[in-house]
Amino acid sequence: MGIRTKKVGITGKYATRYGQKLRKQVKAIEILQRVRSICPFCGKKSIKRQAAGIWKCRGCRRAIAGGAWEFVTTAATTAKTTINRLKKNLESRKKPELENEEEDEEEQKTQKKGQKEKGEKKDKKGKKDNKENKEKPKKEGKAKAGKKK
Ligand SMILES: [Zn+2]
Repeated sequence: MGIRTKKVGITGKYATRYGQKLRKQVKAIEILQRVRSICPFCGKKSIKRQAAGIWKCRGCRRAIAGGAWEFVTTAATTAKTTINRLKKNLESRKKPELENEEEDEEEQKTQKKGQKEKGEKKDKKGKKDNKENKEKPKKEGKAKAGKKK
């Protein structure tokens, strides 16, 4: 079987209905929701969309929450990374001694790699701290203003 449709693809089922623009928009989404993605539990490429936000692995039969049209959305990845970052910050505040020891070991290992990477990491940490410091006084200021009123 060759290619039956030149450009409509999956939206051939709509024939001439609904207008060219809507058919183009829906084409991208309908292709996306049919893509099978890799399971984070068993590693098989067998995660299929069951319903909006529900994704099921055919290999290990696990149901996983995901995006409405795609298994992993950009918003989800950013949320995960921020959560992990905040978790690390919390742990480092709770156990400062342990972290210092680990850092010393890491520094000894990374000395061969070069000091550029370390500098970048420190800069990033510094920026985060600055952001937190900036955000806190604003909130306090708003709270005070509210009390005065
Ligand atoms: Zn699986």
